[in-house]
Amino acid sequence: LAEKVAEDRDQPAETEDGIRVSLQVNAGLNVDHGHERWGHYEGIGLYRTEIPFMMRERFPTEQEQHELYRQTLQTHRDVPVVMRTLDIGGDKPLSYFPIKEENPFLGWRGIRMTLDHPEIFLVQVRAMLRANIGLDNLQILLPMVTTLDEVDEASRLINQAYFEVRNELAQEDRVLHIQRPKVGVMVEVPALLYQLDAVGRKVDFFSVGTNDLTQYLLAVDRNNSRVAGLYDAYNPALLHALQHIATRCAEIQKPVSVCGEMAGDPGGALLLVAMGYRTLSMSTHNLDKIRWILRHVDSKVLQVLLTQALSCSHPDQVRRLVTMKLEALG
Ligand code: PEP
Ligand code: MG
Repeated sequence: LAEKVAEDRDQPAETEDGIRVSLQVNAGLNVDHGHERWGHYEGIGLYRTEIPFMMRERFPTEQEQHELYRQTLQTHRDVPVVMRTLDIGGDKPLSYFPIKEENPFLGWRGIRMTLDHPEIFLVQVRAMLRANIGLDNLQILLPMVTTLDEVDEASRLINQAYFEVRNELAQEDRVLHIQRPKVGVMVEVPALLYQLDAVGRKVDFFSVGTNDLTQYLLAVDRNNSRVAGLYDAYNPALLHALQHIATRCAEIQKPVSVCGEMAGDPGGALLLVAMGYRTLSMSTHNLDKIRWILRHVDSKVLQVLLTQALSCSHPDQVRRLVTMKLEALG
């Protein structure tokens, strides 16, 4: 199978009847090297900026962040790079910024923390905007958004950072053009499911984080082995939620991608493409497999699979269905 998979490495992911799916990469630190070995990819769909923060003993300065982001934007200059603003809290601690809470997953995470510390947010966004000068492949993604107010406040700060950087450049008499990047929101808190229209009017794109969406929709700690059996992306409730997001985003004509682990799972990818998702972002080690599978199905097969999956009442039924389909593909 490895050989078969390797044959299609430099081809785009396109089903037998011509549905194009953009395959992108989730990255943290490994992003600046080795992309020659990834095969065909069309962007960095999720750059987790908290990872370089977690590797240090203090907050990186604006200049340090600028150099890091510049390197990544430059390495992947021909494709979009979606940089997520700092997403710490929950399962992602910073040793030099301890957060003690009874319920960290329901607590001060992602955008909630950075909006309470606008100085951290502004420094990061300024570093991103400066890194993007002359390249223009940056997109900014906001994690753990729950309310419209958070989107408004984050947009206001991104604007502020934009004008600060622009004025500084003007004062230095540098005729560099600074672009306003596209801004998107993660769909990972279930409340977002019912605010796609309102949030969609304020942002350029959505990216579905199935890791946290599964955790919050099913109320299961994603790292607790006692309830690990309940944490299941094939749960029909989650499938219906994902179908709702895809349908609503198509209706409001807002681009939407999936960047949770489900996008890199063979069965998950089939179901997501069947639902209408056309951009999947995954770990590099899943790229070849997903590309090959998508190149060997057609939309009729996908539609039948999805209809059957959505009528299941148990995750194991869904798992059996997709396993059968994958075995039939070889
Ligand atoms: C997610 O929640 O699905 C996601 C992609 O983000 P993370 O795993 O970094 O929380
Ligand atoms: Mg998440």
